[in-house]
Amino acid sequence: MRSPSHIGAFQAGYRQQMISGSIFQSIINATREAVVLVDRSLRVAAVNNHALAAFSRENLPLVGSRLSEVIRDASLHEAYSRTLENNIASDVRLEIISAEPKAYDIHIEPLEVEGSLYAVGVFYDVTKIENLEKMRQALLSNLSHELRTPLTSILAYVETLEDGAIDDRENNRRFLGTIRRNAERMHELISDILELSSIESGNVSIEPKHVRLKNMVDEVFEDLSSKAAERDIGLINDVSADSSAYADPMRLEQMLTNLIDNAIKFNRPAGTVTVGFQENGPVGSIAITDTGEGIMSSQIPRIFERFYRVDRGRTREIGGTGLGLAIVKHLARLHGGRVTVSSVLGSGTTFTLELPKP
Ligand code: ADP
Repeated sequence: MRSPSHIGAFQAGYRQQMISGSIFQSIINATREAVVLVDRSLRVAAVNNHALAAFSRENLPLVGSRLSEVIRDASLHEAYSRTLENNIASDVRLEIISAEPKAYDIHIEPLEVEGSLYAVGVFYDVTKIENLEKMRQALLSNLSHELRTPLTSILAYVETLEDGAIDDRENNRRFLGTIRRNAERMHELISDILELSSIESGNVSIEPKHVRLKNMVDEVFEDLSSKAAERDIGLINDVSADSSAYADPMRLEQMLTNLIDNAIKFNRPAGTVTVGFQENGPVGSIAITDTGEGIMSSQIPRIFERFYRVDRGRTREIGGTGLGLAIVKHLARLHGGRVTVSSVLGSGTTFTLELPKP
């Protein structure tokens, strides 16, 4: 039979192995979340690989350091203390503000190992899910706002017609015209939203082919000619007759239409829109250059976001759903390519669509 001192030594060894040895370490390493075990003196007793990746700092070994040195957050410190003092579970939220902000929901449980109390915290990383939720809310609020504006206008004009304007021969057609324009705007918005969501959810497949680019640019120019004429914008097709881009024809036309439409809309009166093509090794680059107002460099990363517009007030005047560039960005990605921008404020912008060749 083992003597009590033998048992004590065995237990101490077992405890040591439980905390820092392979059993406990293997269990916590198998967890997807960061795990931080803290002892009674609020020093870190063990961490898993995820915690090492998330909280390691140069010159600071996690194990053995004070929790308050590893993660400087008063509520987290309090939550661990509460668990250790009262032998109860606690929950706390942690936000880490850095270049790459993080949010965690942390659940802390007391853990008794051979008479010694520890607190084990599991850090659920909720950053992604919270960002998605913020995006969902922003999308909903943008969408309702975008739909409400034309809808309010439709309702107001219908009411005016009902109140007698229907017999006003001079104005009734004009009011109907406004109703139609607003209904078309809502229609365009819904189509773009559905289009974007099917591209994003992977439901759009592309069939790339060699496309005669010069002809396609001529067709897009033709479709947009009355819009360009209204503002006296010159459309210049600089693509050579033998150039071919490699893309899904319908999707390429859609991307060109969005980019050329913008180049007309955001141009100065009597400006020009030029489309050119260059092959740079395995990539074909289509450049759409305008002589318009340009885009501030701080705005450039934002213009591809859904509903983002540099000047919201102008939308009413010149139209557009605020989704065109988001659609172009996703379609370019679907082709294994990308869309880039260079712009000089006050003198013009070039959007370049880069499409890899097979
Ligand atoms: P929309 O054109 O419907 O407003 P887009 O997603 O196509 O939406 O464009 C987003 C925003 O980017 C525009 O509202 C405008 O502020 C800016 N933008 C796009 N193209 C140009 C351009 N060629 N010149 C200047 N600004 C542009």
